[in-house]
Amino acid sequence: MAEAIKIDELDIAFKEQVLEKIPDAGFDLCLTCGTCTGGCPASEQFDMDPRKLVRMLNLGMDDQIKKSNWIWVCSMCGRCLFVCPMNVDIPKLVYNLRKSVPRENRPKGIIGSCDQHIRSGNAMGVPTKDFIFTVTDVAEEIAEEQPEFKDLKVSVDREGAMMALNQNSREPVTEPDELGPLWKILHTVGADWTYPSVMWAGENYCMFLADDEGWKYILEEFVFHIDNNIKSPMVVNTE
Ligand code: SF4
Ligand code: SF4
Repeated sequence: MAEAIKIDELDIAFKEQVLEKIPDAGFDLCLTCGTCTGGCPASEQFDMDPRKLVRMLNLGMDDQIKKSNWIWVCSMCGRCLFVCPMNVDIPKLVYNLRKSVPRENRPKGIIGSCDQHIRSGNAMGVPTKDFIFTVTDVAEEIAEEQPEFKDLKVSVDREGAMMALNQNSREPVTEPDELGPLWKILHTVGADWTYPSVMWAGENYCMFLADDEGWKYILEEFVFHIDNNIKSPMVVNTE
């Protein structure tokens, strides 16, 4: 039999901490309607869902929600917030729950991907020269083999391009053929674009890790390169 919740033994310390940082998070406005849970890809994993998470937060079940592995399977997609009639900010709640865990105790895979991105500019650890070789090679192959795309070109760090494009680093490593369809669309519509060579990867595991410093470092390096070297007025992140 499930254990009864002893409300007298609980307080809402964590909710108050989060509300200090995001006063408009709206946890008290939750209607328990379940709309968030209906569209959440992480619902029912680890016996948790977003409605239950907010309910437990409001009841002060801080220890249980901080210890739940569910906080690491939320994809931070934001769908729950988009559909919530009361604008309860569950993604920011999840982010703050992740931040409450000491960095060394967070999932090793996410720590590794974040650290790798900081070290090498992408979570897969692809050397920049290999990235440039792969995208150039795949583009040449398409141009040679598909006459309708004989003029298709891919550039890296082309100064003055209208658009700088981020790419998930998994694609050039494991699925290089998946790069082509997007290039063909851009080519067909006459888009003026280039890849950056610095922080070219679109993913950002430091964000998933709730590592503010790492997240900020990656973005600052990226923005510096775009502003000072490529000088593109627009960035498109495909992630
Ligand atoms: S959709 Fe919003 S109001 Fe409804 S249960 Fe989820 S958080 Fe609460
Ligand atoms: S942000 Fe997290 S909780 Fe919200 S819908 Fe996406 S996976 Fe579910």
